[in-house]
Amino acid sequence: MSVTLAAVLAIVLALQLARSASELRIAVLLLGMPLGFLTADIASGLMHWFCDTYFHPRTPLIGPMIIAPFREHHVDPAALARHGFLERNGNNCLACLPLFVVTFELLASARPVAVWHDGLIGYLAALTVTLCLTNQIHAWAHSECVPGIVRRLQRAGVLIAPERHFVHHRACDGRAYAVVCGWSNRWLDFACAHAELVLERFGLRRDGAA
Ligand SMILES: [Zn+2]
Ligand SMILES: [Zn+2]
Repeated sequence: MSVTLAAVLAIVLALQLARSASELRIAVLLLGMPLGFLTADIASGLMHWFCDTYFHPRTPLIGPMIIAPFREHHVDPAALARHGFLERNGNNCLACLPLFVVTFELLASARPVAVWHDGLIGYLAALTVTLCLTNQIHAWAHSECVPGIVRRLQRAGVLIAPERHFVHHRACDGRAYAVVCGWSNRWLDFACAHAELVLERFGLRRDGAA
């Protein structure tokens, strides 16, 4: 249901952007899109890091909902690619529905608007659609058989390629958490390692740490 709704909203958003093209500052809008895409990569890495590192699948409420799927992925990485499309992408699409609403609100704003406004529309549109597809992009990195366009985007480094993502599954300390394009992994590894030290001072230890 949420996947279908998100797909409809994405199509309507694309049509509205095309219809409003004469009113929008297209160059500014396009500039916002790579930033939205990169933010989705960072968000995927932060979520993945947190769920791989803290709490436990048996932690009340969040354990079964968000921790367990990440931990199970390390036990059976290929299972992600075996899941159905709707099962794989449903939760992300549901979580992104508020972002669609905000993007449509910005698009409906009375003009004239500030220059940054159109950049923010491009940023949110790219962020929202990419976040909806994050699990799909991750699954493609675990699939032998992917559409040709996806394989080309993986080879070009636009989407995370299997060999780049397998660094995460090989590493005993589990780095390289970002799963959209992996561009943020280098500094995200640094930031997460330092965040773990800070959180430990506040009493939040890595799961399994004594
Ligand atoms: Zn992981
Ligand atoms: Zn994986």
